[in-house]
Amino acid sequence: MKIFVTGGAGYIGTHTCVELLNDGYEVVVYDNFSNSSIEALRRVEQITQKSLQMIEGDIRDEVLLTSSMQGCDGVIHFAGLKAVGESVEKPLEYYDNNVHGTLCLLRAMQKNSIKTIVFSSSATVYGDPEFLPLTEKHPLRTTNPYGYTKLVIEEILRDLFKSDPTWKIMILRYFNPVGAHQSGLIGEDPQGIPNNLMPFIAQVAVGRREFLNVFGDDYQTPDGTGVRDYIHVVDLAQGHLRALEALKTPQCTAINLGTGRGYSVLEVVKAFAEASKKPINYTISPRREGDIAACYADPKNAKELLNWQAKRTLKQMCEDAWNFQSKNPEGIK
Ligand code: NAD
Ligand code: UDP
Repeated sequence: MKIFVTGGAGYIGTHTCVELLNDGYEVVVYDNFSNSSIEALRRVEQITQKSLQMIEGDIRDEVLLTSSMQGCDGVIHFAGLKAVGESVEKPLEYYDNNVHGTLCLLRAMQKNSIKTIVFSSSATVYGDPEFLPLTEKHPLRTTNPYGYTKLVIEEILRDLFKSDPTWKIMILRYFNPVGAHQSGLIGEDPQGIPNNLMPFIAQVAVGRREFLNVFGDDYQTPDGTGVRDYIHVVDLAQGHLRALEALKTPQCTAINLGTGRGYSVLEVVKAFAEASKKPINYTISPRREGDIAACYADPKNAKELLNWQAKRTLKQMCEDAWNFQSKNPEGIK
């Protein structure tokens, strides 16, 4: 099986490419390197001792996309912009890149008669939870342009399936991916100031930042700080292989990929300090706009439908994130 991976040079993409290659899949990565580098793909090859095909291109370049995916059997679609704050400032860029880009991708797939796709959605499509843990039946809504791009793409995929029920579509709603491959060669490599908790903590531990701002300690949670369902990126990557295996039959299914367990910001800080043996200085700051108190998955459907379950612990997530950060203090060049 040959899989076309859009955005395959990015954080989740590289980890998924490792798992695909290790499992015997052929891989074609299509990426414009707007948030990644070709070096990350070389490292994928170094880890697996296997080669993959790399194509530099934008998903909105429908002509190049259509010719690039010839001969592939399925698509994993990671390519997209993902920073919530930036999406509020640059909504048109986000809708164009994510939604228009996905329309180009789906048309290119149609032209090539490829009808198998795994799409990266997000728990952000649940908005502020009405109940926890979040099941896939929870109402869908969101609060920012990034979230809307995910929601619109989900709807496009559902409409496409209604119009042609021979498609095989898996929508994976990720919770909070963290950690890195155990080699320390690939990991999360944000440009500029990290938006997300774990890469920010990792940069405090390595001395690139002085202290962490803990956004709010007055939430209705056990210690007052925000609670999230952190999932090891290698577990997440393996979930994509199970999704491909489940797509033997036509369907359009949305599935949560999370652990089912929430941790607070202060619990993550403590776990990271233990893993890195470095003090993590922090200060309590005001709540971040748009943040919710708690969010964690009901992962039952992933177990039943994909035969997949997250295995790695918070300790391992922190150890692997620290291993990557300490081996690559300035990121992947
Ligand atoms: P990432 O930025 O590391 O990877 C995305 C990749 O897509 C990058 O290599 C980037 O260069 C590429 N890309 C972006 N726009 C492109 C375009 N127009 N054409 C071709 N390539 C393009 O992000 P990630 O963390 O690996 O996320 C992968 C996917 O998962 C994204 O769709 C993201 O929205 C989704 N997701 C991520 C998280 C998370 O916390 N990391 C959570 C939920 C969902
Ligand atoms: N957070 C924080 N300081 C930071 C970044 C994040 O306190 O510098 C908190 C944030 O308020 C939330 C949790 O950490 O409670 C996870 O945030 P992240 O941005 O990683 O994920 P998301 O909010 O998208 O779930």
